[in-house]
Amino acid sequence: MEPIRLAIVGMGKIACDQHLPAIASNAAFKLAAVVSRSKPAIEGVAGFESLEGLLRDGPDVDAVVICTPPQVRYAIAQQALANGSHVFLEKPPGATLSEVAALEQQANAKGLTLFASWHSRYAAGVEPARAWLAERRIDSVSITWREDVRVWHPGQAWIWEAGGLGVFDPGINALSIATRILPRTFFLDSAVLSAPANRAAPIAAKMTFKDTAGVKISMDLDWRQTGPQSWDIVIETDAGTLKLANGGAVLELPSGIEHAEDREYPGLYARFATLIHSGCSDVDTTPLRLVADAFLCGRRETVEAFDD
Ligand code: NAP
Repeated sequence: MEPIRLAIVGMGKIACDQHLPAIASNAAFKLAAVVSRSKPAIEGVAGFESLEGLLRDGPDVDAVVICTPPQVRYAIAQQALANGSHVFLEKPPGATLSEVAALEQQANAKGLTLFASWHSRYAAGVEPARAWLAERRIDSVSITWREDVRVWHPGQAWIWEAGGLGVFDPGINALSIATRILPRTFFLDSAVLSAPANRAAPIAAKMTFKDTAGVKISMDLDWRQTGPQSWDIVIETDAGTLKLANGGAVLELPSGIEHAEDREYPGLYARFATLIHSGCSDVDTTPLRLVADAFLCGRRETVEAFDD
């Protein structure tokens, strides 16, 4: 089978750190072009400053991978779909739920694959955690995602702007895991969003959710964490405590700790190839919906101004 010819749009941190190596290690794909407003071309790969330029002058591509900030993703995705390309969206799939729904309709109408990727769902501990929880009574869930924004998002102005999600940019990863491993639908109960006086997006948030059986899920997001960082989900059950640590990479069960190799981005590309070959899309907006509900119903408070 001929490899799927890919173009990446937006050669920032995630494109360079994760997408390039994952594509290089998967024979189902060939990187045919990159679109970047700032980066020099990659040797042997056609380079363009805009998607228009690529579509006008470039080599044919079968699929477009969009690694830009979410605020500009819709316009690029709709152009790629209009051109007949399959589309891989980095998380979150868009700045609004409505634009993602519009993309899904467009892809379906044209028989193209749209993949709203959630990389954290491919962390090693996630599927074993889901299987273990399916057979247990869940009593409570506690999500703690506390990291130092200066370390993980240096100079990313877009993340602080409207639509950039602020602390929900990492927080939505936790929700992508929780919505995968917990057996029942859950929904927002309360939220407090803390935004610095000089920023549009929150630097911290505290939320509670309830599932359809009334089980409480608490969530603590904070970008002001220095020292040890936490990306943990702790679940109390009738068979003891399950802890997914390090963003889903490490699974601690009453029987012991399981570590496995990081396969998040190779897992995403394997899934994208399967979707394209089977003519399907995968667009689960549940994590974005929970974040939208927090922005819709959460109480806002203003906290001390924050500078990088
Ligand atoms: P980033 O380093 O700021 O890179 C984003 C890139 O998008 C920029 O370098 C730029 O690339 C392009 N871009 C920026 N503004 C644009 C605009 N107005 N129009 C078109 N292109 C624009 O951000 P990132 O960390 O890679 O994150 C990008 C997305 O991936 C986010 O949605 C994020 O949530 C997700 N993600 C990030 C990580 C992570 O660890 N960083 C992990 C998983 C997912 P050019 O200069 O090449 O045009």
